[in-house]
Amino acid sequence: MTSRRNFLKLGAWSTLLSGTFLKACAQPAPAAPVRPIVVSTWKHGLPANDAAWEVLSHGGHALDAVEFGVRLTEADPKVNTVGYGGFPDREGHVTLDACIMNEQGDCGSVAFLEGIKHPISVARKVMEETPHIMLVGQGAKEFALAQGFKEENLLTPEAEAAWKAWLAKNEAPGKQEINAENHDTISMLAIDREGRMCGACTTSGAAWKLHGRVGDSPIIGAGLYVDNEVGGACATGWGEAVIRICGSHLVVELMRQGHAPAEACRLAVERLVSRNPDYAEIQVGFLALNKQGQYGAYCLQPGFDFALCDASGNRMIQAASKL
Ligand code: ASP
Repeated sequence: MTSRRNFLKLGAWSTLLSGTFLKACAQPAPAAPVRPIVVSTWKHGLPANDAAWEVLSHGGHALDAVEFGVRLTEADPKVNTVGYGGFPDREGHVTLDACIMNEQGDCGSVAFLEGIKHPISVARKVMEETPHIMLVGQGAKEFALAQGFKEENLLTPEAEAAWKAWLAKNEAPGKQEINAENHDTISMLAIDREGRMCGACTTSGAAWKLHGRVGDSPIIGAGLYVDNEVGGACATGWGEAVIRICGSHLVVELMRQGHAPAEACRLAVERLVSRNPDYAEIQVGFLALNKQGQYGAYCLQPGFDFALCDASGNRMIQAASKL
């Protein structure tokens, strides 16, 4: 009897001391889930969050919020790594990647898409109007045109000048400048009043990339992943390193195991470091939001920040870093 009681006590202690329990304690869950809420990567996330908040604060669907939010960034010629005004590849082509995911686990994606300003809306059409998940290149463009999108020249004079300056230096395509603030993918996660979580991710990818290169951003599980039972995660930075570890899916699975969002992002960065010997030369940031509306981020190099908007307003938050 006594030894059984001791055994039970020991069991209780080991449960108390288990990593899951301690991590859950480290970031107390809010009394009620925080809704609505939206987070997005980098400073261009602030105006994008405002657009998303318009939808969320009027009781709209999180899917509309994330689409409308990132469309603002896609249309902004001053943002040189998303949509219109994005820097081209080494051949001078602006090629766009995007994906979207809803609370049911439905998803749509386009990659290596040229001449269409809003790849995120094409990705949504792929999700809603086809039996497929991903369309690329010419096929994605033909689909977009058939859906009523119009073809536009996305290479702005400023982006063309930057490309020509790069050509004049005759450099091999390289990794992105580390921490080029306001020069990275926009990824967004939102929960609406009804508790539906959706996500979107859109980019022109790495500047001066090889023609045909696709990064992590349109790949479900790499650049973005949403599981409405647990939470969502998204990535920004050097896509090759993110793809190697299925980064966003990994963050969501770590949250499923009980880790708080920031800790899940940190563990994913540790995994990335262990799989990418060149980690000191690149930047990668993960951003996560769980079902309760808790958020967190972590990155390799100092400098990654994200925009958070809830009932208390829209503001920037700096992520902690490994290096
Ligand atoms: N992740 C994107 C890519 O590799 C780029 C970025 O976030 O800046 O295409």
